[in-house]
Amino acid sequence: MGKILSKYLRDNGEGDLMHWCPGCNSLHIYAVNSGVPGKNWSFNGNVEKPSFSPSMLINRGTPDKTCHYFLTDGVLQYCSDTAHHLKNQHVPLPPLPQWLRDTTPPFTTKEEQDDIDFLRDLSDEERDLLTEYYEKHFKEAPGRTNREWLELAKAERADSWVDSTHQRIGKLDGG
Ligand SMILES: [Zn+2]
Repeated sequence: MGKILSKYLRDNGEGDLMHWCPGCNSLHIYAVNSGVPGKNWSFNGNVEKPSFSPSMLINRGTPDKTCHYFLTDGVLQYCSDTAHHLKNQHVPLPPLPQWLRDTTPPFTTKEEQDDIDFLRDLSDEERDLLTEYYEKHFKEAPGRTNREWLELAKAERADSWVDSTHQRIGKLDGG
């Protein structure tokens, strides 16, 4: 059933493309091969950094279960009408969990799976910090793990606190 296209995408066996949603913790499927004009999503053909348009809207009309997002260049951008915890956030498309892979070599290492779990277990404050920092810097090093991004974000916040404290002390000394 289906075939692995990359560690992020698999074919569902009918030419449609499935990816993992870290908000719903489930697969979502883009129809790209339905044979019905106007029913397909457009796909950029990049299985490592996929883009689809238009947006994906799951459970429309059920506000407490809605998942609504754009997937652009391998980044999930959840919209404000999304019900789950990733609402209004941009997160890198996570690799498919190992149990969804049917080929060797394995595409998700244990480290990658740990990193998916890491993102899910963050507090709201940590997730906001990571997201804010990630959005500013993600083009610099797209291969960083969520854990590395959060450490960098925390280091930057600590630096700016030290800087402002030094400036205040400097002013006191100088005055
Ligand atoms: Zn979802």
